Amino acid sequence: MGLVDYHTHTALCGHATGTVEEYIEAAIAKGLSEIGFSDHAPLPEGLRKGITMHDGQTEEYLASIVSQISRYKGRIAVRTGFEVDFPLHDTFDQKYFTDPRIDYLIGSCHFIDGWAFDHPDFIDGFSKRDIDDIYSRYYAILKDLISSGIFHIVGHFDLVKKFGHRAKKNFSKEIAALFNAARHSISVEINTAGLRKPVEEMYPSEDIVALLFSLNVPVTLGSDAHSPDEVGHAFSSAVEMLKKAGYRKISAFEKRRRFDITL
Ligand SMILES: [Zn+2]
Ligand SMILES: [Zn+2]
Repeated sequence: MGLVDYHTHTALCGHATGTVEEYIEAAIAKGLSEIGFSDHAPLPEGLRKGITMHDGQTEEYLASIVSQISRYKGRIAVRTGFEVDFPLHDTFDQKYFTDPRIDYLIGSCHFIDGWAFDHPDFIDGFSKRDIDDIYSRYYAILKDLISSGIFHIVGHFDLVKKFGHRAKKNFSKEIAALFNAARHSISVEINTAGLRKPVEEMYPSEDIVALLFSLNVPVTLGSDAHSPDEVGHAFSSAVEMLKKAGYRKISAFEKRRRFDITL
C-alpha cells in the first residue's frame, strides 16, 4: 500500500503555489495512496496576512477539495483537513470541529504568547528569552493542544527548533507527560519540512520518534508542501526513520476515524 501525505497547503493561505489538481497529480506521480489538504485555518485580521485564508473563505476552500474526491476516486484518496492554530482563535468556526466533510484536523502551535516564533521576521525573539523557557512554554501549549481532544494529528511536533535553537535541558519527561494527559489517541506527524529549514532535520527528531514509539503514540506523514513539487518530499527517509524506531504502520483518517496503513 502507498503512503499518505496529510500536510499540504493551497494558494488560499497566501504563501503557497499550485492548484489543488497539481498537488493531487504530484501525489499520484509519487505513488501515494492518499493526499490530504490541511490549509491554515483563518487567523484573525492583523495576524493572517500572507499566512492564512480569510474567515469568509473556508467554504470555498472546502468545496475546492471536496469536489476532487469523486474525480480522483480509484486513483488516489483525497482527504479534507485544516491545520488549526492552537491556542484557538474564534475566526475558525467551531462548527468545523464536527463537520462531516472533514477527515482530520491538525493542531499546530506557531505562536508562543503572541510571538510568531517560526517566522523569520521575528527570529530575534530567541535572543530575548531563555531557550529552555521557550521550549518549556512551547511544550506547555502542546500539552493543552493534545489534551483538548479536538485534533487528530499534532503538526510539526518540535517546530521550535526550526532555526537551530536547541534546548539545553532534556525535555523527554515533559514530552511523555503530554500523552499521559491526552483523553483521546492523537497521532504525531513526521513532517519532512524541517529538512528544508535551517535545522535540516525532520519534525520531530529521531530521538523523539523513538520516545513516541515507546509510548505507543501513533504516527502519520506530512510534507508541509507549499508547492506541488514538495508533495511526498523525503518520505523514504521518513519511513526509514520510523522503521528504525520500530514503527510498522502509520495512521490514516476518513471522516475523523483512524485506520492503519502498513509500512
Ligand atoms: Zn504549520
Ligand atoms: Zn503547514
